[in-house]
Amino acid sequence: MTTDFTATRALFDLPEGVIYLDGNSLGPLPVAAKARVARTVEQEWGQMLIRGWNAAGWMEMPRALGDRIARLIGAEPGSVVLGDTLSIKVYQALASALEMRPDRRVVLSDTGNFPSDLYMAQGLCATLGADYALRTVAPEEVAAAIGPDVAVVMLTEVDYRTGRKHDMAALTRAAHAAGALILWDLAHSAGALPVELAKAGADFAVGCTYKYLNSGPGGPAFVYVAPRHQDRVRPALSGWLGHEAPFAFDPDYRPGAGIERMRVGTPPILQLAALEASLDIWDRVDMAALRARSIDLSECFIAAVEAGTDELRLASPRDPAARGSQVSFHHPEGYAVMQALIHRGVIGDFRAPDLLRFGFTPLFTTVEEVRRAAEILCEILTTEAWNTPAFKQRAKVT
Ligand SMILES: *Cc1c(COP(=O)(O)O)cnc(C)c1O
Repeated sequence: MTTDFTATRALFDLPEGVIYLDGNSLGPLPVAAKARVARTVEQEWGQMLIRGWNAAGWMEMPRALGDRIARLIGAEPGSVVLGDTLSIKVYQALASALEMRPDRRVVLSDTGNFPSDLYMAQGLCATLGADYALRTVAPEEVAAAIGPDVAVVMLTEVDYRTGRKHDMAALTRAAHAAGALILWDLAHSAGALPVELAKAGADFAVGCTYKYLNSGPGGPAFVYVAPRHQDRVRPALSGWLGHEAPFAFDPDYRPGAGIERMRVGTPPILQLAALEASLDIWDRVDMAALRARSIDLSECFIAAVEAGTDELRLASPRDPAARGSQVSFHHPEGYAVMQALIHRGVIGDFRAPDLLRFGFTPLFTTVEEVRRAAEILCEILTTEAWNTPAFKQRAKVT
């Protein structure tokens, strides 16, 4: 198991002169992914053609790689499968969960949740009918808001803006005590910190692989269903690859065994090949050691920034135990400050209305880089280097 994070940096292809603090949004390229994807393209797709589905094991990849992600999120073997995008998996898991509480009509979430998760819930409720509703409360008020009408509590464990972390075990207990099911979004947890889905007793979970897990832009999402629910859950999106026998081409849907039924359509093999190369690294990562290192890096960054400027206000919880693996600061000109920072080779991102967001990813980020990033950030603020029209020009993706 990897506990020495100085060695893992060489496993990633990072551009010279860049300090990358955005692995929480798009993980960097694992060096081995280049050859792995090239092999899939040239030898498998190119030479095997359609035979690749059997000969190269393409059809098994969503389950096989799901099992490797399972270890990182404390899930039972056979309870995680890959496919589709996270938004789709949120919809699917939520629809499945709602059906398991037919006498209740409310989805409870928090106001800090990622918009796509909330939009998916709104759209699903609209489809199900006027008596279904999404209710959102402040993150700290979720436990108290789980009333007898709540069917599903849908939460993202780590807030995408501030890094604030929910107490998964406590909220799962609270949901169950009130007769509700719980769906956890692990977009900012998988590969960021230890997660204990099975231990917490979670019902459903979803997450993405292109953030901390380095599967590349557009890499597939994953879905978890607790083993106790797997054989009675209806997958809501009942696609042919979730059918018991896809190649029987039966006109009637019959759900596949266990987690297989959560599959929908043809898996993205090139992205799965990239993910496989990344998981070769993740298989050896000790998540407790990763967490300790992530806290060291984040604490070092906050201390260095606060020592160097008084223009930024910490938006993340000060207690590292209450944060994921990212740190955000408020600044009224946050967008321009981030552009100036990127111009100097320090890549983080901006989240409206005023947040500078930085991700800490121990596999490739060093303490020296974190110190240097803080130094450059403080310099930009002191010199007002951000204050130019070019840095205020908003791009499509922030
Ligand atoms: C990144 C993220 C998404 C993105 O969903 P996609 O379908 O992959 O675009 C959704 N939810 C959360 C909480 C996220 O952090």
